[in-house]
Amino acid sequence: MTIAEMLNTLDNATDSPFYDICHYLSNDNFNDAVICIKDYFKCDDTTAKAVCMDFKTTIYDDLYKPHSQLSPTEIAHNNAIAQEWQNKPKCPTCNSTNLKKISATSKVVNTAVFGMFGTKRFKQFHCNNCGYEW
Ligand SMILES: [Zn+2]
Repeated sequence: MTIAEMLNTLDNATDSPFYDICHYLSNDNFNDAVICIKDYFKCDDTTAKAVCMDFKTTIYDDLYKPHSQLSPTEIAHNNAIAQEWQNKPKCPTCNSTNLKKISATSKVVNTAVFGMFGTKRFKQFHCNNCGYEW
């Protein structure tokens, strides 16, 4: 796959990893964005960095271009998408948004029962789709 093809794939991706990368870039977290691209395409570091760089200069900067160039509707739309994305945690394994937040109580109970080996101690979410917890 060429870098242009990879960019095109990312641009057409409806959810992950498109917004994940945007989210990382919005936090100036270039490294995680590169890792995300690497994971997604199973490509090497150099390619991922090149894709990430191009993604930033073409797709990302265009999406988040200075507000003066966007209509209020477009700004509201982009903000709504970004907001929704950040408010909606997703399963890192299957990308499902069908999640259950593990309550503080459940964490305390687990710690009490399993002590050092409590597997739920630092986990916040449970995926109702595949059962993964993180
Ligand atoms: Zn899952």
